[in-house]
Amino acid sequence: MTRHATAGAMGVSLAHQISQPLSNVAMYLHVGQQMLAARPMEPSRIADSLEKATGQLRRAKDILERLRDFVSRGTLRTTPTDLGALTRRVVALAEDDARAHGVSVRLDADPVPQVTVDALQLEQALINVIDNAIDAAAEAHRGPGRVAVRVASTENGVRIEIDDNGPGVSDTVAKHLFEPFMTTKQDGMGLGLALSRELVTAHGGAIDWQSLGPGEGTRFRIELPVTPENAHGA
Ligand code: ADP
Repeated sequence: MTRHATAGAMGVSLAHQISQPLSNVAMYLHVGQQMLAARPMEPSRIADSLEKATGQLRRAKDILERLRDFVSRGTLRTTPTDLGALTRRVVALAEDDARAHGVSVRLDADPVPQVTVDALQLEQALINVIDNAIDAAAEAHRGPGRVAVRVASTENGVRIEIDDNGPGVSDTVAKHLFEPFMTTKQDGMGLGLALSRELVTAHGGAIDWQSLGPGEGTRFRIELPVTPENAHGA
């Protein structure tokens, strides 16, 4: 994803970013098919599933187009963005997956100033972190899996915090957490966090993490500055 990345790493990164919406398409089509066979048939639920599939295909197409732009020009396509609303969208997108893993996701979003950012890129960065939190919470040792997302203003910008009650990050993984191809998952590619850091820092922001205590889970924090350049209507 970086302008300096090798073609190989770029290909893997691309695969990582579009595999999620495409597997969602497969899931929604499968659900639609099952509903067609159900008696009584409920056309509105079938339509809903097909509409969700279309939405995910549109998303995959958007990602491909954005990557093409980013690779060829390295530019950000910025628009005035409400990060609270953006986070709400991402959480809604993750909810089906969370439910399937027995994980609940909570969102607390304070009103925050609008910032002029590349919404699709930040959405992608946040999706990666929230997906990881869901994966971790699905492995929670103490009680049901929980993810809590908070959006708040800071002195000079906006902060998004993502907490999970998963098993935490082991010391060996911690040292390499944001490096490309670092993964402990069987089907993982280890590009999510590397990519998220790339996208957040391209906006002048920062991403870091901390342990919430032994066995208590992990907090990821994304901070984006509001600067005179990216402030909107300030
Ligand atoms: P992937 O999800 O494909 O493994 P990532 O770069 O997103 O790639 O994550 C790298 C690794 O960091 C994960 O495999 C996991 O071991 C660890 N990790 C990321 N987020 C968390 C989290 N919230 N709790 C525990 N471990 C995490």
